[in-house]
Amino acid sequence: MSELLSNHVGGRWVAGEGAGTALFDPVTGDELVRVSNAGLDLPAAFAFARETGGAALRAMTYGERAAMLGAVVKVLQAHRAEYEAIATANSGGTRGDNAVDIDGAIFTLGWYAKTGAALGPARALLDGPAVKLGKEDGFRSQHVLLPLRGVALFINAFNFPAWGLWEKAAPALLSGVPVIVKPATATAWLTQKMVADVIAAGVLPAGALSIVCGGSAGLLDALAGEDVVSFTGSAATGATIRQHPAFREQSVRLNVEADSLNSALLMPDAAPDSEAFGLFVREVVREMTVKAGQKCTAIRRVFVPAEHYDAAAQAIGAKLAAIKVGNPRNEATRMGSLVSREQAATVRNGIAALREVAELLHDGATHELVDADPAIAACVGPTLLGARDPQAASLVHDLEVFGPVATLLPYRSLADAHALIRRGGGSLVASLYGADAATLGASCLELADAHGRLHVVSPEAGSLHTGHGNVMPQSLHGGPGRAGGGEELGGLRGLGFYHRRCAIQAATGVLDAIAPLATSA
Ligand code: NAP
Repeated sequence: MSELLSNHVGGRWVAGEGAGTALFDPVTGDELVRVSNAGLDLPAAFAFARETGGAALRAMTYGERAAMLGAVVKVLQAHRAEYEAIATANSGGTRGDNAVDIDGAIFTLGWYAKTGAALGPARALLDGPAVKLGKEDGFRSQHVLLPLRGVALFINAFNFPAWGLWEKAAPALLSGVPVIVKPATATAWLTQKMVADVIAAGVLPAGALSIVCGGSAGLLDALAGEDVVSFTGSAATGATIRQHPAFREQSVRLNVEADSLNSALLMPDAAPDSEAFGLFVREVVREMTVKAGQKCTAIRRVFVPAEHYDAAAQAIGAKLAAIKVGNPRNEATRMGSLVSREQAATVRNGIAALREVAELLHDGATHELVDADPAIAACVGPTLLGARDPQAASLVHDLEVFGPVATLLPYRSLADAHALIRRGGGSLVASLYGADAATLGASCLELADAHGRLHVVSPEAGSLHTGHGNVMPQSLHGGPGRAGGGEELGGLRGLGFYHRRCAIQAATGVLDAIAPLATSA
């Protein structure tokens, strides 16, 4: 039997009871490690994190906690090669896919370390200026933000075992809030290894970072008033979690990052011979194939002017046909496998469902696998579908197929395109491709309330832009409605979730005494 990974709770490593659940290599089918959290005393683990970890973190200034994040970055950099090996074995992705997760995690932590340093010796954050409350100017209201005294529980998705932890932990720890992470079981190994390295390096106070590997049973029951939960995963699991009494009865804060039918929009001015068209085709293909399409931000719906439908299908299809799919250990492979055979089956079922309302423009099943056995490997070739009547093809706007799959959709007018994009019910991101700044700007304002982020690729941004699907710490991540309604990152805005706002009404002298202890974020 493979090694059983331990959990870190209550400031020590604890093995779960029983044989646990096995994690597999999705390309070879080999068993890798096992996880179990059976028998853990979760209420005690949460109490230790709150009382010991929280107190130690709050005793530090923002500047000291930013330096602590910098120390975590150094630990992760030192073990980078081991993370690469684990990711290749457990997630089935290429080196490029692993970089999105691992280097994305390290970059995000580093960004918060650097930006957080500017908050210096403060112990609270000022939220706006003090405002006078009466006619006279002697009595004012000052809003302040104080770190929560609870614990931050992260329930994460399988597709980002590295970034998924650190993009949440960076703002939480910088805020002074201890973290308990429950990674998705299928890829928990990388998260557990990173936590183990950081704990072993002794760069965090005891109780600041805990990890529970395996199922979720009992986790939500251990929550109390000032705790927060940040969930990333499917809309269905998000809906189940929302029902827990901790949120209804104790006002525990919940952030949900769920699935999303993200769009790419080719603007009316972007004819097939334009630079914007080339940038659009490149980005659609990249989004479909990076991490084999297992990114919450990946492009799922591709909108083009009706007269360019065939040209777009041909251009995207030609590039997809050249993608070599298979074992990521083979240098020829451009796209690896999905995370598990279960996911591969779910994606194939999703393609079959979409085919009820859409035609097949590029068939992923035509890709022969490189260095992998199709009977074992969880590989699915990149698949482009198309629906010539996007109004009628409701399923395309509703079903997220979490793999290398997108659907091409023609529109008749820009207003028509905007309305169709909104049928995603609220998305994480949409990208727009064109050269006319005025039309692009107007479309942004038309779509902004339905998205967490809009990514505009005009020719002058061609070599500068950061990619439709890449989540940058400076920008908001999250989306309304279907996408969960959550907000993460967005620079120092991301600290807001881990703070409590209070209005202090006092004479100017009292507010002057508070001012040196706080800083504006
Ligand atoms: P999932 O099945 O919803 O699982 C997500 C997490 O929830 C896992 O850790 C899972 O644990 C846990 N979980 C399952 N049932 C639970 C319950 N009843 N109570 C508490 N926790 C529970 O999602 P996934 O398959 O891992 O991830 C794929 C989905 O995540 C996609 O739909 C994708 O769009 C979405 N996603 C969204 C974002 C974003 O930022 N918006 C980012 C990445 C992924 P186990 O693994 O142990 O079952």
